[in-house]
Amino acid sequence: MEKYKGLSAAQFFYRNREIAGFSNPVRALYQSVRELVENSLDATETHGILPEIYLKIDVDKDKEDRIILEIEDNGIGIPGREIPNVFGRVFYGSKYTLRQTRGVFGLGVKMAVLYAQITTGMPIYIKSSTLNSSYIYEYEIQIDIEKNIPIIKFLKITKKKNRKQHGTKARLITMGNLKGAHRRIEEYIKRTALIAPYANIVFKTPKVEYVFKRVVQKLPTPPKVGKYHPKGVDIELLKMMIRKTKRKVKLVDFLSNNFDGVGKRTALNFCKWCGIDPNLEVKNLSVSMLELLSSKMREYPKWRRPRPITLSPVGEKLLKEGARRILNPEFVTAVTRPPASYSGNPFIVEVALAWGGDIQPQNTPILYRFANRIPLLYDEGADVARKIIDSIDWNIYKVKFPARIVIITHLCSTKVPFKGVGKEAIADVPEVEKELNIAIREAARRLRRHLSKVEKAMELKRRRVIIEKYIGEVSRALAYICKMEDKIFLEKLSAMLRSDIEKRVLVRNVEA
Ligand code: ADP
Ligand code: MG
Repeated sequence: MEKYKGLSAAQFFYRNREIAGFSNPVRALYQSVRELVENSLDATETHGILPEIYLKIDVDKDKEDRIILEIEDNGIGIPGREIPNVFGRVFYGSKYTLRQTRGVFGLGVKMAVLYAQITTGMPIYIKSSTLNSSYIYEYEIQIDIEKNIPIIKFLKITKKKNRKQHGTKARLITMGNLKGAHRRIEEYIKRTALIAPYANIVFKTPKVEYVFKRVVQKLPTPPKVGKYHPKGVDIELLKMMIRKTKRKVKLVDFLSNNFDGVGKRTALNFCKWCGIDPNLEVKNLSVSMLELLSSKMREYPKWRRPRPITLSPVGEKLLKEGARRILNPEFVTAVTRPPASYSGNPFIVEVALAWGGDIQPQNTPILYRFANRIPLLYDEGADVARKIIDSIDWNIYKVKFPARIVIITHLCSTKVPFKGVGKEAIADVPEVEKELNIAIREAARRLRRHLSKVEKAMELKRRRVIIEKYIGEVSRALAYICKMEDKIFLEKLSAMLRSDIEKRVLVRNVEA
């Protein structure tokens, strides 16, 4: 006889941890750091707080693969009663809304807790206090894998001395291979510092200590919570929304109250277009009506574009500052594209291009990819940005390899079209590909303009060197012919050369 039973969410991820990036001690350590850092950033920047993040990685003196991760932030904190669930229950969190955040699933940190629990047997330690609370909560938490509920190992509540203080500190003792993961983690932190030039980040390991001081004092406008776009609905979503709707609400009001960019007039026009009576009560709609409604909503060509209030692009200025902070290039430019959408999901593409300076020469442009401000370090070959960059003939833009060139791509969206569950590469959705292509080429054109200017300046310099080389001889020859002193010619010719160069420089500056 077969035995039948269910599987809890925690059990599922316990068995299939590679799905969430915890496949081996190198990757698991990298992923644990990521989950902690991303939560800290979400808890600060999304809420208008300039991030202060302190991350320390230590190795146990007696066991090389026993790693102590410690992170502290000045974020909004976590209410005491929520702490056990957010760290001890898979699929529990505060980010199940339509708004751009780094985390979305309510899973990340639990995977780190789970991994620590099964490799070292140690619970996660949390100390947190929210903005206006008078108390500090300290917990030690593990996960009851079979039931997917938190186990509280330790709890202490103390009164705050300074009410203004807020934020979270977490400590995790986990198994990992720091030697193997060190370079990736370092790269991850550097790139995070690039995309968040408004953050103070301290990063300490037994090998290195980085202090990234913020180079700008202003955050990008934080994202707002938005509504669903009518193009992105399916039957289940409709059912769920209708369940939350009061009795007697008519279809036209349901549409105009619940969807992005839909007012009464648009709702009426839509109903007319698909021949559904706008005065029907939504609670009474049959399943076949819901099916019709959802397919018509996806098809209707006249919805307004999704509004991008849910998104928070970094912006051209901050992107340039970030690139300067980390890459120290000779030239940098950035392009933030206007909002666009795919299948009802708004998105914005940003690209920065850095050239020269401290960048290492390579035979192809170096690519830094970001999605919702998360650096993507794995699976570059599968990413749409790599595909575009490789398809460009860089000769057109005066780039000759080996060249010192870095291209930074940032996609923000309430739904990033990742390829697969690894969340490391962006799929080639046509709308996204188009926007990326435009942005990369625009940045490349600006680089070409810069390189032309540099070329002209070099040409001028070369001419000057040549003329200067012969000026003495020419003066002497002229003096001989005219039977005059050569000093006079030398002075005159030098003056001419100077004014010629000054004129050209002037023209160049005006052009610029
Ligand atoms: P996600 O980030 O996808 O929501 P996580 O499991 O990583 O899922 O985190 C669960 C929840 O815990 C978050 O939604 C957030 O509400 C809360 N949280 C985690 N870390 C912090 C932190 N450092 N500061 C404030 N809240 C946090
Ligand atoms: Mg998270």
